[in-house]
Amino acid sequence: MSPRESKQWDWRSEVKEKMKKAGPRGSIRELRDYTLIEGELYRRLPGGILSRCINKKEGKLRLDELHTQACGIAEKTSLYRRMQRMGYYWPNMNRMAATIQEKCQEC
Ligand SMILES: [Zn+2]
Repeated sequence: MSPRESKQWDWRSEVKEKMKKAGPRGSIRELRDYTLIEGELYRRLPGGILSRCINKKEGKLRLDELHTQACGIAEKTSLYRRMQRMGYYWPNMNRMAATIQEKCQEC
């Protein structure tokens, strides 16, 4: 089993590990938008908003919660945008949010 598939694997650990290796003056392009605050990983979005990086398991949970609240409401804001507003981020958030809405009859 590759580390990517293991239960312990968390994409944030990989980013943190890369940041550590790159050092304080590291300027790796893909790390540019990440920042650590008291050990927690955040991603800087356009406009300077910080989103808390969460793992996929928590992300799925938050998505389901938010979908339950927002489903069927006339306001046409995508689930992804709502998640952004709540201040969450993980790499597949966009795709996962879109999939939930595609499967839903009410959305
Ligand atoms: Zn829905």
